[in-house]
Amino acid sequence: LEEQLRMAQKMESVGRLAGGVAHDFNNMLGVILGYSELALAQIGTEQPISGALQGIHQAARRSADLTQQLLAFARKQEVVPRVLDLNEVLAGMLDMLKRLIGEHIDLVWQPGDHLAPVNMDPSQIDQILANLCINARDAMKDTGRIVIETGNAAVDDADTSRYAEAVPGHYVLLSVSDDGCGIDPETRSHLFEPFFTTKDIGKGTGLGLATVYGIVKQNNGFVIVDSESGRGTTFSIYLPSHDEHINTPSPPASKKTSVSG
Ligand code: ADP
Repeated sequence: LEEQLRMAQKMESVGRLAGGVAHDFNNMLGVILGYSELALAQIGTEQPISGALQGIHQAARRSADLTQQLLAFARKQEVVPRVLDLNEVLAGMLDMLKRLIGEHIDLVWQPGDHLAPVNMDPSQIDQILANLCINARDAMKDTGRIVIETGNAAVDDADTSRYAEAVPGHYVLLSVSDDGCGIDPETRSHLFEPFFTTKDIGKGTGLGLATVYGIVKQNNGFVIVDSESGRGTTFSIYLPSHDEHINTPSPPASKKTSVSG
């Protein structure tokens, strides 16, 4: 619990700081982008100096993308929850997700039957899925397969003693599995921290999973990570089902060795 509290405080302060800085920064980057575009338009691409200008423009573009992500992370976005069918929301996202991960990776969609509804903002589901799929994609080299599954899940006391953050109740489970590089224990211990990334500069911000964690917590859910180095990773997102009285089967047993709790 102490760990969770520390994490929440860290997210909160990072969020406030980032939001303030990112806002002004974003404006200045807009100026740099604007002038570099103007200069490029006047000079053209043939001049010796054009390459340098393009470099400036690209770096400003990447910085602007990063500040956008920071803003999205920091902003206490107004959430408008509504009762929805996760399968329906996901079905509408598949084309976008396929484009996101690229053609070399298979996307398998396995919707669970008779899924209980959840009460949340659909744009938050977009954010969760996009972040998990980008990470799954980046964990794979040339080819691979991402499986998105949903199902009803009843969490009982036995589960809560196995997983520190689980709370008994009825949930809708959304899982994203990949057969990528897996997560080593050292990375695992920092996974949800804001700004923790193992990716190259310009590729990772370290805000993806912090955002996922924040959204799931806000909705009284929890996340379980199963991963095995070299074999792959499954992120299981448990979202409270809106209908508390529904009869749900037990959650599927973990197929991989867990390195998490
Ligand atoms: P970012 O993607 O910008 O690095 P995240 O918070 O989304 O930030 O992820 C943090 C780190 O967690 C990643 O840099 C990566 O090392 C690790 N990670 C996340 N998802 C996976 C995955 N599916 N497979 C392997 N490593 C992962």
